[in-house]
Amino acid sequence: MKATFPHCGSAWVPLKTLFAKYGIECIIPPRASKRTISLGVKHSPEWICFPYKILLGNIIEGLEMGADTVVSIGGPGLCRLGYYSKLHLEALKSLGYNFDMVLFDWQEGGIVAMGRFIRKLVGPKEPWGRIIGDIKFGLFGQLLFMENLERKVHWVRPRELEQGAVNRVWRSAGDRIAAAATEEELKETRAQILREIDAIPLDPKAKPLKVGFLGEFFMAIDPASNLGLEEELGKLGVEVHRAAYLMNWAQSWLFLAPLGISHHQKVSQAARPYLKRDVSGDAVQSLGETILHQKEGYDGIVHIMPFTCMPEITAQNIFPRLAKDHQIPILTVTIDEQMGKAGLITRLEAFADLMARRRAAAARG
Ligand code: SF4
Repeated sequence: MKATFPHCGSAWVPLKTLFAKYGIECIIPPRASKRTISLGVKHSPEWICFPYKILLGNIIEGLEMGADTVVSIGGPGLCRLGYYSKLHLEALKSLGYNFDMVLFDWQEGGIVAMGRFIRKLVGPKEPWGRIIGDIKFGLFGQLLFMENLERKVHWVRPRELEQGAVNRVWRSAGDRIAAAATEEELKETRAQILREIDAIPLDPKAKPLKVGFLGEFFMAIDPASNLGLEEELGKLGVEVHRAAYLMNWAQSWLFLAPLGISHHQKVSQAARPYLKRDVSGDAVQSLGETILHQKEGYDGIVHIMPFTCMPEITAQNIFPRLAKDHQIPILTVTIDEQMGKAGLITRLEAFADLMARRRAAAARG
């Protein structure tokens, strides 16, 4: 089997190791680029949301590299995400690609669904004990580390004395963690990466602006798709706190939600005065996290949404009232295939300037 999957944050890291352990050839497509987008746009309906097009383009790139199996997620839902995989399958078959699709149905929920999904990939003979051990290694040993590392990178960026130093470590981290196949190797690699980050000289006087980075899940966690917004904010001296991480989602929906406890409940409660029901996607999270961030003293919010995203359009229309009630500046960035980076950086600079002035005015009382 030669399996591919579209990029989604750091998910490729545990998947690469897992596939190698079971003798599956892992075909990792390139990170989303102009070519990825143009392939996706060419074979997608014009009106469909932007992540659909990026994912389709990335799958095509994986198939072009020789994959015969596509790993994807799907399941029922209120917005278009629920039928991404079915539409991708039909579009790709009509283009003449010959492959199998292995689907992780998130709606089945829980660790058992995750186990069943991996069983589909590795076949009926592997013992459950081994599969569960490998899920634990991939999720808690590799993915959790990568995402905690990303949080650390966001913290270091606005404080480092040599711009780009932390990016060099971050860019090499995925391959190094994916290459660690045992607990011992992983422990050593993680420690080495942390030592390298801790050795980066920081400005002791830096007082970065603090921004909540939220919005549609895929666009928020995938820097190649959001034009590297977090990195650009870091360069402007802004410390980014992103709400969406794959492990937050996995811990919430696979482990905590079945037990009736998750951060999502706190977020929904905060959002309730503005949005009483789930309109799918991440609208409730966008509103709820904004209110929670304001209470924690954040300087502003950067809200990212793909063009034609129904849930985020709902949130965007509520934001003016919420920003007024809670006195927090919110910048919504809508991204599609026409988006250019230069204009975006100008908007980020203006927003950082506005937050700095508000902070200075507050300090003057
Ligand atoms: S959340 Fe928005 S962008 Fe994502 S699938 Fe739903 S409508 Fe599309």
